Amino acid sequence: MVGVSVEIADVPDLPEGVAQHFREQGIEELYPPQAEAVEAGVAEGESVVASVPTASGKTLVAELAMLTSVARGGKALYIVPLRALASEKKAEFEAFEQYGVDVGVSTGNYDSDGDWLAQKDVIVATSEKVDSLVRNGAQWVDDLTCVVADEVHLVDDSHRGPTLEVTLAKLRKLNANLQTVALSATVGNADEIADWLDATLVDSTWRPIDLRKGVLYGQALHLDDGSQTQISRGNEKATAALVEDTLTDEGSSLVFVNSRRNAEAAARRLSDVTRDHLDPEERERLEDVAARIRDASDTQTSDDLADAVAKGAAFHHAGLASDHRELVEDAFRDRLVKVIAATPTLAAGVNTPSRRVIVRDWRRYDGDVGGMAPLDVLEVHQMFGRAGRPGLDPYGEAVLIANSHDELDELFDRYVWADPEPVRSKLAAEPALRTHILATVASGFADTEDELVSFLERTLYATQTDETGRLETVTENVLEYLERNEFLEREDGDLRATGLGHRVSQLYVDPMSAAEIVHGLRAADDRPTAFGLYHLVSRTPDMYELYLRSGDREEYTELAYERETEFLGSMPSEFEDSAFEDWLSALKTARLLEDWASELDEDAITDRYGVGPGDIRGKVETAEWLLNAAERLAGELDLEWGPAIREARKRVEYGVAEELLDLAGVRNVGRKRARRLYEAGVENRADLREADKSVVLGALRGRRKTAESILENVGRKDPDLTGVEAEGDASEDAAGASGDDGSGQQSLGDFE
Ligand code: ADP
Repeated sequence: MVGVSVEIADVPDLPEGVAQHFREQGIEELYPPQAEAVEAGVAEGESVVASVPTASGKTLVAELAMLTSVARGGKALYIVPLRALASEKKAEFEAFEQYGVDVGVSTGNYDSDGDWLAQKDVIVATSEKVDSLVRNGAQWVDDLTCVVADEVHLVDDSHRGPTLEVTLAKLRKLNANLQTVALSATVGNADEIADWLDATLVDSTWRPIDLRKGVLYGQALHLDDGSQTQISRGNEKATAALVEDTLTDEGSSLVFVNSRRNAEAAARRLSDVTRDHLDPEERERLEDVAARIRDASDTQTSDDLADAVAKGAAFHHAGLASDHRELVEDAFRDRLVKVIAATPTLAAGVNTPSRRVIVRDWRRYDGDVGGMAPLDVLEVHQMFGRAGRPGLDPYGEAVLIANSHDELDELFDRYVWADPEPVRSKLAAEPALRTHILATVASGFADTEDELVSFLERTLYATQTDETGRLETVTENVLEYLERNEFLEREDGDLRATGLGHRVSQLYVDPMSAAEIVHGLRAADDRPTAFGLYHLVSRTPDMYELYLRSGDREEYTELAYERETEFLGSMPSEFEDSAFEDWLSALKTARLLEDWASELDEDAITDRYGVGPGDIRGKVETAEWLLNAAERLAGELDLEWGPAIREARKRVEYGVAEELLDLAGVRNVGRKRARRLYEAGVENRADLREADKSVVLGALRGRRKTAESILENVGRKDPDLTGVEAEGDASEDAAGASGDDGSGQQSLGDFE
């Protein structure tokens, strides 16, 4: 099929106006892999697996499939691997709304059926969200005609891969004619993925812009075409020298390092390089971006990021708040920020191409091996793929750094010449099957053990395995576990989910988390404290762990004895080493949540626990979700702890002590303003509706607009503050001058 030239106008069935739209975007002729996909029928409802390098136009393949499907009266689903990407993709697809294509994004709670999505033509969601929608019986799922799986090679990920795998199997079972389009990085065994999905394979190494790969050793940059260039180094470290070298050519760099801390340190160091390459206008615009970063949150991380950005460098990692990430990515695309130091987790999917990609660290700490392990070839190649902006750079360059001659050879063998590892299903592991078997039975995909096995045969795992019996053995263990915990009943090969089992499946918690919660709640003989509940949810496998640092063991052991009476369920003995460690690290998380719910400042928390603001958000969000699940489970079991759980959840949601719950729930109030109102004697909503306006205005530091909107939100009849003087020493001018009333962040509501 090589060499076929296809114009966008030749694609059949596109909605009216769309071809013109693409042409206006500079897309006239399809890239060769896109043309191949069209030849394979991707615009006519045929299933296709496209294994194509990063930035070679996979999105367009997906768009052609979805838009033509919609034009024929169908409905399409686009599955993204990360939540952060869902909004990005939605924004991209919204360009088609003017041609009558409605786009919806489904994020948020995992326990609704998202009925409103029935009206949409194109839906964007993560695989977890789709899985939960299926579990909750969303009717519109039956109407899907096209499903796209982005970054399908992630089925190899042991944590999230199985969900994508099972979800695709379920969607395909529900709808035999479903068109499946899977987009993958270039992997060696894309043919197996295509086999599994009954799809035609488009396997290509074509890129729109040349990529040169190489390794820097000393001053010499060895490239894969056999050439060598000199990078002048002086006293500079390798990374700084490479960044400087790119800058003299007016290019930007992306530096991959192995930890958040390293990303921050690298950005700080590299900002000393970039600051000498800024013109006055750039400096001014960067100051502006830095100010917006400071506004977004009042933490050390935020300050550090702003300091670096003002000088033209930035860091990017999962500990950053979403506003920060967006500001950094935009400034990089606008060529204001000249270098980003990033962790590998964020390499995938983030659309920030740059002239040069520098993979500084090719080893990373791996908890499973308890030490440093080399990155996968696939991962490094994806980082490489970010090099080169078509139309802007003459070529992209991806560079590794060697510290010895042997390492130079090793890096060439390991990454430059090497092919990526094959993608292997990770489904046949107990934690994955525990949740998916329960859901498969609870949502009616299998009523007997035979049906369950034949359902599992539709997965990639079954296509790939030659280990006979492994799936059956793990399945048997899992069924026993689910039965023992009263989630499933088995009789003569028939399978039935119990009421509790249905609940657990719909709540989208790991059955093991549910079992821990049920056990803990049943063990309580008194109203549980918020702290006890935080600890309970923190010890479930759904809450990712905070690691214990040196010295933590003593500190938290002491705390464990101090607060022993509050725990739900019995504490493991200090001699059961790993169980006790887990208990303590859950305790650390519980105290973080308690600190947050006791109005401790965000930056005090980041300091105390050595985490970023994004981590606090992550913990708070997970705690809210698990406490909501706990409340529903308590209801299912007729336990009387519902109100206590709800209160504990509201406290983490707003980040306030008990007495502020009523006030903090009013829109625009938030934790800090609620505290100030309370201290001024305005203790609840009723007070707020009646209180002397000058007191309210004083407590809100003279912020008239804010105060009016709060009064309006609480339903006060006369929210107008014209002519009202603020009580106390707060004057509008003083507060207005800094543009800040010290309330900082309103809440951690922004989780996207
Ligand atoms: P991938 O998803 O493979 O990483 P993208 O779909 O993001 O890559 O495409 C990278 C860039 O190439 C986008 O900016 C896109 O607009 C552009 N592009 C895609 N197809 C074409 C084409 N046929 N002609 C010109 N530009 C294209």
